[in-house]
Amino acid sequence: MSAESKDAPAPAPASNFIRQLVEADLKAGKNGGRVMTRFPPEPNGYLHIGHAKSICLNFGIAKEFGGVCNLRMDDTNPLKEDQEYVDSIKNDVRWLGFDWEQRFYHASDYFGRIYDIAVNLIADGKAYVCDLTEEEVRKGRGTVTEPGQESPGRKRSVEENLDLFTRMKAGEFADGKYTLRAKIDMASPNMKMRDPPLYRIRHTSHQATGDTWCLYPLYDFAHALSDAIEGITHSICTLEFENNRELYDWFIQHCRPLENRPQQIEFARLALTYTMMSKRKLLLLVQEGHVRGWDDPRMPTIAGIRRRGYTPEAIRDFAEKIGVARANSTVEFGLLEHCVRDDLNQRCARVMTVLKPIKLVIENLPENETIELEAVNFPEDAAKMGSRKLPFTRELWIEREDFMEDPPKQFHRLAPGKEVRLRWAFFVKCTGVIKNEAGEITEIRGTYDPTTRGGNAPDGRKVKGTIHWVSAKHAQDAEVRLYDQLFTVADPTAEVEGQDWRQTLSKTSLEVIHDAKIEAHLSGAAVGAQFQFERNGYFCVDPDSKPGKLVFNRTIGLRDSFAKAMGPKKE
Ligand code: ATP
Ligand code: MG
Repeated sequence: MSAESKDAPAPAPASNFIRQLVEADLKAGKNGGRVMTRFPPEPNGYLHIGHAKSICLNFGIAKEFGGVCNLRMDDTNPLKEDQEYVDSIKNDVRWLGFDWEQRFYHASDYFGRIYDIAVNLIADGKAYVCDLTEEEVRKGRGTVTEPGQESPGRKRSVEENLDLFTRMKAGEFADGKYTLRAKIDMASPNMKMRDPPLYRIRHTSHQATGDTWCLYPLYDFAHALSDAIEGITHSICTLEFENNRELYDWFIQHCRPLENRPQQIEFARLALTYTMMSKRKLLLLVQEGHVRGWDDPRMPTIAGIRRRGYTPEAIRDFAEKIGVARANSTVEFGLLEHCVRDDLNQRCARVMTVLKPIKLVIENLPENETIELEAVNFPEDAAKMGSRKLPFTRELWIEREDFMEDPPKQFHRLAPGKEVRLRWAFFVKCTGVIKNEAGEITEIRGTYDPTTRGGNAPDGRKVKGTIHWVSAKHAQDAEVRLYDQLFTVADPTAEVEGQDWRQTLSKTSLEVIHDAKIEAHLSGAAVGAQFQFERNGYFCVDPDSKPGKLVFNRTIGLRDSFAKAMGPKKE
């Protein structure tokens, strides 16, 4: 029952500094007029909404300027990486609507070439084997104002360096015994330039290269070289790599053979209120069972928000709306929700579902009678999705909260002696209630006015409220999962003295309703199908659904506090 997206042409993308820079490069004839970007995740976790920003940016820029974008697994750390993550990354990027065609790469594809380049650096006197331990290197680094100490390895001859490096590769030494370091400048004001490590020994098998290697290149080195080897023109990364740019450029300048000269450009990473994006902490949420898995609909992972019912269109719209800047800031979660609502509003049929039911018995309708009514599936544009038949019978389900025995004045729904409109049906007046021994209301009684079919009275009398309902005889039971923010504070990443971040986890982020009542025709809905449950929000069918018992996720409520134009929820 999903619908086509908006017909209106997409608005022209707002300019940003990266677009301007690429445009200027093209105008100047740089890189022979080529544009090639890449999205380079480390396969050590699932992608999240922050990665989505980077994916939209990298693939978007390439597409806009007639270039291409590669998908590259940045798999230089064999300890944390896994094929499950590789598969999920491919799946997520594709789902977002982007295509790397045949250009799926691994940094590990280049381990052989990177090794050869390292040998050339040694031969050129620009790299050396260092005996210092990690601890000694850290101690000898100096400070921003004081130069670091030179490693004794700096004095080694080229021959000795080449011999040791070959033996490192052959597996002669234990982990940590030696490293290969670039010979740059121990007095550089940029700490990254103080003879950074290029290779470390790790006798660990790797998810892509198996046991071929026992030494692995470090991130900065492998990353710059991977970019250059692939012919990347614009290497877009987040701001925390600003200090690494000088080193990136040093590698591009001094390594050989390299034909290409990629340029690193930094932008501000996405931060969202009520959201945590550290892969390490997301992994802990999964491992410690705070959520049901990487694709739990409360997770900010792409797998999670997909299951929740967010659409790729909404996420791409969000990425465009937040733009690209060079200063870090935090985006309101409400803006993402606004984009989701905007998209779902156009594509979802409206149906009626009672989440927390109570029975309403229509006293003047005989038990065996069914009145067939017609309901429009998309009232804003009746032609768009057609209509459906609704059975109106003696026993109906309505929302428990749409009835009050002793209501305040401004309550316009059902109450003893009061009349209300049942959506697509009739006016119904409440005649009384039935209670159990404990005094709880078990049933509401009422009468319908047959002259009000379609929702208007011929005598011109008005009712203030309209409520939704389903026929009890026809309705099916469904499980409905309602979600709230996973964290109770706007910035769960803030370090608070004496408090563990887990203490900000919400205890009410998931509410499960086991006996919601859905219109019978919904029982055939496929996993992923999306609907607006009138007055209750947007929902999608969860993969946990079984024949005879659908499970729905609430994607989002109807109320949009971000779009000021929208008034409060209609009664
Ligand atoms: P970590 O370093 O914690 O493992 P990461 O989120 O930086 O995680 P990567 O796999 O290295 O993970 O990220 C892949 C790409 O996505 C990088 O280019 C990175 O800059 C970008 N990226 C990561 N987080 C965000 C974010 N919050 N906003 C925008 N881009 C991001
Ligand atoms: Mg990273």
